[in-house]
Amino acid sequence: MKAIEIRTQSREELVDITGRVKEEVSSSGIRNGVCTVFVPHTTAGVTINENADPSVKEDILMTLRKIVPDNLPFRHSEGNSPAHVKACLVGSSVQVFIEEGGLKLGTWQGIFFCEFDGPRSRRAFIKVSSG
Ligand code: ZN
Repeated sequence: MKAIEIRTQSREELVDITGRVKEEVSSSGIRNGVCTVFVPHTTAGVTINENADPSVKEDILMTLRKIVPDNLPFRHSEGNSPAHVKACLVGSSVQVFIEEGGLKLGTWQGIFFCEFDGPRSRRAFIKVSSG
């Protein structure tokens, strides 16, 4: 398993990590199997969506802000409950099949680290398994 560091630049941000995941798949030497990306944070997550049009990630963030307003009567004293809830909605891991040494993503798909309480230094774990 490999840990990669991700430095986020704003409070909320989707960071395309597809290239870095591909690097781990290549360096593993595994030609066929599965790649898991896991984010060990409670106010960040990971998801797969379109990486062709950059406005899609802005639309995703806008919609999450609408679903999870900042002004609900949250009880968590740290003040970042919206970030915790958004992290639940996107989830903490994704899996992608590996075929002939490449990620089997759809034409328009990319893997995004989802920051909801940045900017921070974050990590993601990448594990490549054969089979
Ligand atoms: Zn918190």
